[in-house]
Amino acid sequence: MKAKTYRGSCLCGDVRFSFEGTLEDAYFCHCNQCRKNYGMHGAFVGVARDALVINKSKTLKSYKSSPSTIRQFCGKCGSPISWDRKGYENIYVCLGLLDGKITVPKVTNIHTKNKGAYYKLD
Ligand SMILES: [Zn+2]
Ligand SMILES: [Zn+2]
Repeated sequence: MKAKTYRGSCLCGDVRFSFEGTLEDAYFCHCNQCRKNYGMHGAFVGVARDALVINKSKTLKSYKSSPSTIRQFCGKCGSPISWDRKGYENIYVCLGLLDGKITVPKVTNIHTKNKGAYYKLD
């Protein structure tokens, strides 16, 4: 898969970001934290730390959800933006924020033991 430039924004549009990469490193995470954060499973793509460009929006906020994980969100509209875990090579950006027609070649489901009882997984 060839790398290309992707752009994304939150619901209100005050937080914008872009990165050059692929959508190959994509995950649906079913852990308890993601369910609380997104109301459903999380859906992310891994983006190399130095490839992610986030605008300096005043509404961009951070929440430390565990000693090693920081989750970023828009403080105005509430959209989750990304999460970042100490020691990980990538930052994980929410797939739903990407603009344009996005196709993800392969998704890996993780932490499926904690998934909500209200949806099915194949
Ligand atoms: Zn917003
Ligand atoms: Zn999770």
